[in-house]
Amino acid sequence: MFLNHFEYFAPKTPAETLELVSHLGSKAKILAGGTDLLIVMKSKAISPEYLIDINGVEEFKGILCEPGKGAVIGTNTKLAEIQYSEELKAKYPALAYAAGEVGSSQVRHMASLGGNSCNASPAAETPTPLAALGAKVTLESLSGTRELALEDFILGVRKLDLAEGEMLTKFTLPEPAAKSACRYAYMGRRDAMEIDSVNMAVNIELEPDGETIKSLKLVMGSVYPRPLVSKEVPALLTGQKLSAELVEKAAEAAQGEAKPIDDIRASAEYRREIVKVLAQRLLNDTYQAAKGV
Ligand SMILES: Cc1cc2nc3c(=O)[nH]c(=O)nc-3n(C[C@H](O)[C@H](O)[C@H](O)COP(=O)(O)OP(=O)(O)OC[C@H]3O[C@@H](n4cnc5c(N)ncnc54)[C@H](O)[C@@H]3O)c2cc1C
Repeated sequence: MFLNHFEYFAPKTPAETLELVSHLGSKAKILAGGTDLLIVMKSKAISPEYLIDINGVEEFKGILCEPGKGAVIGTNTKLAEIQYSEELKAKYPALAYAAGEVGSSQVRHMASLGGNSCNASPAAETPTPLAALGAKVTLESLSGTRELALEDFILGVRKLDLAEGEMLTKFTLPEPAAKSACRYAYMGRRDAMEIDSVNMAVNIELEPDGETIKSLKLVMGSVYPRPLVSKEVPALLTGQKLSAELVEKAAEAAQGEAKPIDDIRASAEYRREIVKVLAQRLLNDTYQAAKGV
């Protein structure tokens, strides 16, 4: 389990980092927390010639949460900071909760929000609430900047819409609408240090009457190669007041859209059952939270 030989760079500014990312190209890997990268390097699945450690770049860290203006979170913001941020807990509890469920305390103090998305694991914790919240990622290179919805950035297992010479620099979250709520839940094999068998986030905005669903986003993780945004659940529930019957129909629709696989953590059949259970719980809880109950 030794690491391959590599050359190590520790840039201090975004400009220096982008120079390195551009010039070293696909032979280099960005090192944020290293909690995924070093494990795959030790397993010899990848052997990068260069590592670009971004921990010395202050601009890639931190949370800017202004009233009425959503939030901007630097790529190398540690998950522990997100978990404990009072501002994020108040405005985006689904994200703060998901960040707090990753691994152990030690892992969360090393691991970054950007690394959790860039690792492109279908079972990752934070891409699901980020997508439900409408988060955008900013991708930068020497030749410019572009913004993508989180769910369009992650293309599949270990696959990103990230060109050579580009890196993720930050996440931008829209201000939550009035009368809205977003909630996250997951199921794993045990409470501590498990990787999710299924995870899910639901974001509901209500009309001014406080009961009719104006918009809804349901995102599932670990049941598809990338975060799976439901098309059928919003089609069923938009314009409706939630009822037990609609919850049942919507949960079955989500179940039908999920395309899970059998693996070491759970069977596809079990995962499909869990999709239904999580959808029922989350639709009810999120609707109540949006109503302010
Ligand atoms: C014991 C243990 C338990 C874990 N439990 C969980 C869990 O419960 N849930 C979960 O989701 N994950 C879990 N993980 C996985 C891991 O901790 C997370 O995915 C973490 O967020 C990765 O962040 P990092 O900063 O360590 O990424 P790194 O390992 O530094 O990087 C991961 C990948 O992303 C790339 N990368 C990082 N930043 C950028 C960037 N800005 N631009 C472009 N590419 C970039 C790297 O080059 C690398 O390929 C666990 C890991 C361990 C070791």
